[in-house]
Amino acid sequence: VSGPPFDLAVRGGRFLTLGPEVADGSTLLVRGGLISGFAAKNSERPLARREIDASGRIIIPGLINAHTHAAMSLFRGLADDLPLEAWLARIWPAEAAAVSPEMVHRCTLLSMAEMLLSGTTLVADSYFFEEEVARAAREIGMRAVCGQGVLDFAAPDAPAGQGLSRLAAFLDGFSEAPLLRPAVFCHSVYACRPETLSRGHALARERGCLFFIHVAETAKEVRECVRAHGTTPLRLLERLGLLDESSVVVHGVHLDEGEVGLLAARGAALVHCPESNMKLASGVAPVGLMLKASVRLALGTDSAASNNDLDMLGEAGSAACLQARSGRALSDGEALRLATLGGADALGVPCGRLEAGRLADLAIIEPGFEALPEAPLAGQVLRAGAGRVRTVVVGGEVVVEEGRLTRIDLKEVMGKVRELARGLSA
Ligand SMILES: [Zn+2]
Repeated sequence: VSGPPFDLAVRGGRFLTLGPEVADGSTLLVRGGLISGFAAKNSERPLARREIDASGRIIIPGLINAHTHAAMSLFRGLADDLPLEAWLARIWPAEAAAVSPEMVHRCTLLSMAEMLLSGTTLVADSYFFEEEVARAAREIGMRAVCGQGVLDFAAPDAPAGQGLSRLAAFLDGFSEAPLLRPAVFCHSVYACRPETLSRGHALARERGCLFFIHVAETAKEVRECVRAHGTTPLRLLERLGLLDESSVVVHGVHLDEGEVGLLAARGAALVHCPESNMKLASGVAPVGLMLKASVRLALGTDSAASNNDLDMLGEAGSAACLQARSGRALSDGEALRLATLGGADALGVPCGRLEAGRLADLAIIEPGFEALPEAPLAGQVLRAGAGRVRTVVVGGEVVVEEGRLTRIDLKEVMGKVRELARGLSA
């Protein structure tokens, strides 16, 4: 005798699928970690091991944070009200003193708790000791792309000049797991020499993983790159042959039209981080130009220390509002698309859409103070905000249930991070 044919059924809600529309009140069915399909409202109830009643709620694909440094939740509030260069001058010494495997593990768990509770099911992290990020993701049940950081100068997990061998060791030792993928993160053109960038990119290619890099975040970065290399950061990457479908360019605030065209022509993805760009007074990325050129766009929070939070609904809302200056280039629906399908495409993970055959990653949201129940769902979701995310599913597993994490004790994680923070201010 076999059990129920499905692992999970989500019934009764309204679906914002980001793909083909599904009628209100249909039932979403999950088997083997994937979305099997939808059963119509009045059809026979398919049997599932577990059922979720989503009546009155909105079901969306899990949000995708395509760029953050999760462990930096420890430094939240440490360097507020500073532009990037002054911010880095405050953050880098703190990192040198505080970052350890234990710190990355504890603080990443806290960030992943924050992300899951606000509906994010997949994160692309870029930091040090990334094997600890993988460990945290396995514990809490979150999907993660783990980008091991490379700098030319001393990093918390490698002496000066050893970043690439540390990266190779990380990639060699990465244990396969359904939720996890390794990646390469060369910090920037100012923290890595051209040779380091080329070798980091070659390693990414060799192992079939993504190559992340901060590019053109500030005007100063661009000026100094022109002085040092005779060209802009993005054109330096092009000159080195490092722009392709495996490249994930982060920020791109100060790109001209030609550079936007280059991103599109090479098929590189760009992660837009509007709130971090605002907080550090870096500027506003030319998202309108990027959309027009069909650049592969995703959305990220960057770290909690340069943002305030890791809330992707807030980030998508900010992205939409920030485009008011360019004639509202980004609608609510488009912003939400960047935070789901755009991220899935940039990271090469088959999620981001509620559709048969995709990974069963989703979030269930309680609408907020909506007077018009028929208002477009994307706007309702953005207005509801992170605080109204009720239930979150990753790979068919319920990891947040009615606002509570199912796998870990948030209080305990918070307590362990506060212990570290006390050491920081001592
Ligand atoms: Zn960053």
